[in-house]
Amino acid sequence: MNLGKFLTRASIALITTLAANIPLMASELGPEVVLKAVQLGLRQVDSTRSNPKVRWNVPNGVSSPCGRISGSLYCPRNNTVYITQQHMRMANQYGDAALAYILSHEYAHAAQTIGGFRPRNITQIELQADCLAGFYMGAMPNVTFDRQDIEQIAEIAYQVGDYEVNNRQHHGTPQERAQAVLLGFQASQQNGIVACRVQ
Ligand SMILES: [Zn+2]
Repeated sequence: MNLGKFLTRASIALITTLAANIPLMASELGPEVVLKAVQLGLRQVDSTRSNPKVRWNVPNGVSSPCGRISGSLYCPRNNTVYITQQHMRMANQYGDAALAYILSHEYAHAAQTIGGFRPRNITQIELQADCLAGFYMGAMPNVTFDRQDIEQIAEIAYQVGDYEVNNRQHHGTPQERAQAVLLGFQASQQNGIVACRVQ
């Protein structure tokens, strides 16, 4: 049995239970539409009105005020979210909900920066950003997610997880990342953003 695949399915089973009462976002949407929806979702919850600029389709290796780009990121020095070509391709493969997740995750880093979030380590920052990303997506007005969308989001969160738990750059295991985004999504429908607070 392919363990990775099995765990993905297990996470998805959890997610789809959560998704059962959440109605969808229909067709596949382009980046600009997804961006608008994410911004609207963010505005529902973020009183700081963090509104970074976005640069799409950035090749890895391009320089930024935060160093060379080696993956999508939020750069606080110029208040800009960079979404890499690689992630755009990944989102094309998984669908528009996946793009919304990637973008929401980087917007969450902007909100963390502006909110002065002081985590103990990178894993905490990343899992909280996943949770907030789920929350922003769930808070998008006039957008609902179907089972397939939720699967896309969980799948991509799972794919970007890693098992290097002793590495300082560890972002969370695949299961933790899928669960964090789901937790945020569920919180947007139920108990509020406090669910993403780190203890
Ligand atoms: Zn991140």
